[in-house]
Amino acid sequence: MIMYTPVIGLEIHLQLNTKSKMFCSCPNESEALPNTNICPVCMGHPGVLPVINKEAVLKTIKTALALDCRIADFSKFDRKNYFYPDLPKGYQISQYDKPLAENGFLQLAEEKIRIRRVHLEEDSGKLIHPSDKDYSLVDYNRVGTPLLELVTEPDIKSAGQAKDFCREIQLIARYLDISEANMEKGEMRCEVNISLTQNSKLKTQNLLGTKVEIKNLNSFQAVEKSIEYEIQRQAKLLEKGQSVVQETRGWDEEKNQTFFQRGKEEAHDYRYFPEPDLPPLVFNKDSPINIEGIRKSLLELPRAKRERFQREYGFNSKEVRILTDAKELADYVEKVISELRTWIYSLEGVEGTEEEIWQKNKKRLIKLVANWLINRLLALVHEKGIKFKEIKITPEDFAEFITFFHQGRISSRLGRVLLGKMFTAGRDPSRIMDEESLEQVSDEEELIDIVEKVIKNNPDVVQDYKKGKVNVLKFLIGQVMKETGGRANPPMVEELLKKKLVGSS
Ligand code: ADP
Ligand code: ZN
Ligand code: MG
Repeated sequence: MIMYTPVIGLEIHLQLNTKSKMFCSCPNESEALPNTNICPVCMGHPGVLPVINKEAVLKTIKTALALDCRIADFSKFDRKNYFYPDLPKGYQISQYDKPLAENGFLQLAEEKIRIRRVHLEEDSGKLIHPSDKDYSLVDYNRVGTPLLELVTEPDIKSAGQAKDFCREIQLIARYLDISEANMEKGEMRCEVNISLTQNSKLKTQNLLGTKVEIKNLNSFQAVEKSIEYEIQRQAKLLEKGQSVVQETRGWDEEKNQTFFQRGKEEAHDYRYFPEPDLPPLVFNKDSPINIEGIRKSLLELPRAKRERFQREYGFNSKEVRILTDAKELADYVEKVISELRTWIYSLEGVEGTEEEIWQKNKKRLIKLVANWLINRLLALVHEKGIKFKEIKITPEDFAEFITFFHQGRISSRLGRVLLGKMFTAGRDPSRIMDEESLEQVSDEEELIDIVEKVIKNNPDVVQDYKKGKVNVLKFLIGQVMKETGGRANPPMVEELLKKKLVGSS
């Protein structure tokens, strides 16, 4: 049997979240009433002149730099001509032979995926095909939305890796705040190019097979599933001695298979030529856009943040994934930790520097943070269907909440109640504890009364205990917890019960 290796390249489009459209002053907002967010420029009326949106250029440069691309000293816009009802001008302004940026890479786990180019273009309108009608509708609101296009080299080797790549690009886009990058909303769109090649040919001659392009994939799952399907389909053809035809295919979500859409189109079909109404983009020392300045201003990217979260705080890799999945969340975690350092120092700082006290308690506190943040706070956010940035619990309050466990002031049962109250009320935990008298009962006098009452009310169980069934102690502890509304300090209850059980008759 011949072994085949999948060879995959991706083309990703990101709608930039600029204020206005790419070449006119219409708001960049396509959710308005159909065909209300348009003007003569984006509609391509005769005599109008496009103007380049500086914010879109800056956001594209930022993204390209984050992907280690080289920004071209000279780039230009071109017209890509084709006819389609969603394209009022009859051409799309794009970049052809002189893209804004080239030759980058994205480090994915152990592999480097090379980025061939990053360029800027404009989006088309939207066609709507009502299923019960014999006509189609067109909404031009989206026409002229700035689109960043990113093309990789065919370095990707599996469906899972393609999905990981798309995920990482989405995360980077969000970290850089250049796009919301929701795939379901079409803010991020992926096209997959895939071929199979015989292992031996790939190794010795770097010979690639004929590729197929899959378009209109609007979820990570579609990216993964369509590649898996296409690998099987192409392998079957090759094994039968047939050849793969270069074509564009679509993805049928229901049937879970790709289907033929159209044959291969060539660049010359588009009659590209330089856009005569726009100046080229030239970056040199006199240019108003300072590339090195933008490079220096780039904030920490997801990968670096993940590594630092692991190294600096000791979160495990699964926790790191979750906690850095949104920049607001990662920032929140860091604020919580920095608050915790201060708290712990103020609580225990008699003997040592802040750093020493932190190092001593770090492992335990980080574990508490990970647990309560991931398993409780994020669960609540999810349950209530809100965005993380909408939560009312400040990092200071969350940090204080964590110190309560550290001090043994609350049990995890009580913790859940308290966090729930903090979540809805947005008040600091000590105030809630005071106002609702949630404080753990660690007062011996008070607990002794309750322990005695429980012993008195459960003579049979007490007899069992004395006969050696020590397991029933759990039941008695449970009774005391119940009496105190879950506020008793469990280790203390256990100790008191043991003491009293010896004494009782
Ligand atoms: P085209 O001329 O058909 O547009 P390009 O060379 O511009 O093809 O590449 C488009 C995308 O397809 C890129 O992401 C590239 O990495 C990928 N690609 C190119 N050749 C192959 C191949 N043989 N197998 C898989 N992907 C490929
Ligand atoms: Zn417009
Ligand atoms: Mg191409």
